[in-house]
Amino acid sequence: MTATSKPVEHITIVGGGTAGWLAANLLSNFFGTGKDQGVKRHITLIESPNIATVGVGEATVPAMPRMLRQTGISEREFFKATNASFKLGVKFGNWNHDANGKPIDYINPFIGSRDIDGIPMEHYFHALGAKGLNYVQSISATHELGEMCKGPRALGKKEFDKGTSPYAYHLDAGKFAGMLQKVCVARGVTHLRDDVVDVELDDKGFVAALQLKENGRFPVQLVIDCTGFRGLIINQALKEPFVDYQKYLANDRALAVQIPHPDKEKLLPLTCSTALGAGWVWRVPLWNRIGTGYVFSSAHRTDEQARDELMAHLGDGAKGLEPRVIPMRIGRTRKSWVKNCVAIGLSAGFIEPLESTAIHMTEMAIRWLLTYFPDQEFSAPKRDRYNKLANNLYDEVRDFICIHYAMGNRTDDPYWIDAREGLEVPDSLAENLELWKYNLPAEADVGQFNLFSPGTYRAVLFGKKVYENGYGGGRVSSGIALDPDKWDTYLENLRKTVRVITRDMADHRTLLAELRGELRPAAQPWALTGGQAPTVQVPGAAKMPRFKVPDFVTGDADNAIL
Ligand SMILES: Cc1cc2nc3c(=O)[nH]c(=O)nc-3n(C[C@H](O)[C@H](O)[C@H](O)COP(=O)(O)OP(=O)(O)OC[C@H]3O[C@@H](n4cnc5c(N)ncnc54)[C@H](O)[C@@H]3O)c2cc1C
Repeated sequence: MTATSKPVEHITIVGGGTAGWLAANLLSNFFGTGKDQGVKRHITLIESPNIATVGVGEATVPAMPRMLRQTGISEREFFKATNASFKLGVKFGNWNHDANGKPIDYINPFIGSRDIDGIPMEHYFHALGAKGLNYVQSISATHELGEMCKGPRALGKKEFDKGTSPYAYHLDAGKFAGMLQKVCVARGVTHLRDDVVDVELDDKGFVAALQLKENGRFPVQLVIDCTGFRGLIINQALKEPFVDYQKYLANDRALAVQIPHPDKEKLLPLTCSTALGAGWVWRVPLWNRIGTGYVFSSAHRTDEQARDELMAHLGDGAKGLEPRVIPMRIGRTRKSWVKNCVAIGLSAGFIEPLESTAIHMTEMAIRWLLTYFPDQEFSAPKRDRYNKLANNLYDEVRDFICIHYAMGNRTDDPYWIDAREGLEVPDSLAENLELWKYNLPAEADVGQFNLFSPGTYRAVLFGKKVYENGYGGGRVSSGIALDPDKWDTYLENLRKTVRVITRDMADHRTLLAELRGELRPAAQPWALTGGQAPTVQVPGAAKMPRFKVPDFVTGDADNAIL
């Protein structure tokens, strides 16, 4: 800080949805609301008592455990407070059809690609097949754990134990915001329940104050706009334009409803995404209920048609329930940091929730804000770098979502043909899709990525069986010499490992009951002797190449705060 620049001492967050409380949690944790290098920072969160939160957003990515741990939130408390469950990946259904017109199911797992002596195993998988195993079965135990409704850990483990498979969580969005609120208020964050009715700008166009319905004029230094799709400050007051992504992605509406578990004992550790006629249905199993809904295109279905389609799909489980309609603004604000306002969450942008990325994008945005935290000079280079990172992330997610449609092959509804042929494919993805007719997705193709490695692209292409169905006309070739014996040994070792993992991992519901403190002691054999839970020995695991996944996926980056 220079002698002339003054620190930001007051941070004002507007909005009490997941984004607002996540911002309050990370900022209050890493800054403290006390003194940080001599600066006392006050955080105030203003939340309308009259405008509801969007109330959805219940599946996450594997960065979430790290975020909870780093901000001092107990995993046990989290499971109990939010009725959370484990998520090992996303199961896609009916997005593509095989050569006989039969729907294809596949899982996009959190485990990344493995190498065999430096060669990504997909080259072997593509050239030699995997003895009848599908792609996911040839890299992980995720397929089997899903079928058996098992979790990623054995019983008796410590909080945040990494288990044998990277995992994320499913959570109740409303309860999650409520839990964060308690944590933040206990840390000293001021919570004001009031409506922002006007935004006052100074002569340089900075936000000088907010006009609150009950509390009057509220001066601000740094304001974080977490007001959801309305973008109250960033779009409405500061007039920053919105960059529409609908030329790439057709879905602009959602229907949401909560249903009971059809079978309480079987708690799937996967988010499901099942394609319907004009979009797809999400299914997020929590401890006590299932969150579900239909993301669809209003150009192809009216709300009533979509509702009927969803209810027919859900069957008896949704009898008597009425889904809620949620209009979605798809795209991003041109620059989410303008002057002294940073838009975070839905006000910054939203891409349909196919890969459950929005909460993670919010977390990334707050971490970047911490990295480039301004003083009252609000210097342009900090802001520019932040905006560049934020925009790149939206484009990265957009490309990855687009590939699901661009590489679809359904012809049974005009929606699927339009989604594949009538929409623009972003240039960055179009170039890669041309290349991937000749070459499997490689590290260099996706550049610097935050979320989606080349392995995740390969998982989608193999999951959809695009090469089996003729993509590239059999021209994919790497020129790498492949040793079939090494591949056989790899598959043999992997299957041994999978057998042990599936034997030793706990039943998902039992594991959750234990985390919630609701497991009867008889269910824990070692509890009778007061001993430790047995550690899982995985034969052959030492010989297995380490998973090559970005740090956030495994949560390995314990030391990295920003
Ligand atoms: C259909 C759907 C499914 C989704 N699924 C997922 C998912 O699986 N995973 C995932 O990560 N994300 C998902 N998301 C995204 C996720 O829901 C959001 O990222 C998350 O809920 C954050 O929302 P938010 O806090 O930005 O906005 P909101 O929840 O809309 O909160 C806005 C807040 O601003 C306040 N506010 C508004 N105006 C004023 C005012 N004038 N004065 C004071 N306060 C005001 C409101 O009271 C509210 O508290 C999904 C979104 C949709 C639409």
